[in-house]
Amino acid sequence: MKIIQFKANGKEKVGIIEEKNITELSCSVIEAINSSNVENIKKDKIYDINDIKINSPVSPSKMVCVGLNYKDHAAELKMDLPDEPIIFLKPPTAVIGHLGNIIYPDSSNQVDYEAELGIVVSKKAKNVSDAEEYIGGYTAFNDVTARDLQRKDTQWTRAKSFDTFAPIGPCIETELDPSNLNISLKLNGEFKQKSNTKNMIFDVYELVEFVSDIMTLYPGDIIATGTPPGVGPMNIGDTVEVEIEKIGRLRNFIR
Ligand code: MG
Repeated sequence: MKIIQFKANGKEKVGIIEEKNITELSCSVIEAINSSNVENIKKDKIYDINDIKINSPVSPSKMVCVGLNYKDHAAELKMDLPDEPIIFLKPPTAVIGHLGNIIYPDSSNQVDYEAELGIVVSKKAKNVSDAEEYIGGYTAFNDVTARDLQRKDTQWTRAKSFDTFAPIGPCIETELDPSNLNISLKLNGEFKQKSNTKNMIFDVYELVEFVSDIMTLYPGDIIATGTPPGVGPMNIGDTVEVEIEKIGRLRNFIR
């Protein structure tokens, strides 16, 4: 099922989206992704998608992002495959939802898109070896990056952390095999990235286990699993869309 967070009649709500209809749930998004019987948490209230505003599906305490993690991206960059994941953090203040604006910072002259599959953590996880138990679902993620600042700084924090640099959504798909999903990115309607999650160097389970050996993961935390080939710049006025098979399309605007 596809779970969203949304705003309707001035209130924040959680729901399940099916086609254009959203059924409100009587619980938090974390309770929803952990629920074994969704019928018990459905409210008798259905909204039309045109009457609501979709928010980010989670409010993570942190986002752990993986650097080079697609074989076809490594080939594009003529780089050797890494022995272990390269990770960095994005702060929760960078999160925006579907249809939100990515604000182009004055201090950068090159802001790039990076289409990524996002893992949504469902339970507190530390030193886990059964990662599947801790994954509540998957979402689409855009690891927006000020590439010029990334090149200039030895640490990536500035380049990756501007407010609005972490679009997430539109939903969390809770029933999904993440091992063979088409992933693509369109800029102003034109394909710029096209790959499949089967090209990942480290799979989602290896990533959760690797990260949980370092830091405690909390429910709602995101692990962004790296981007395929074709990253490139965006300009003010552009529309960017990350699409992942069986999850949907995350659309944002550069302002
Ligand atoms: Mg990335």
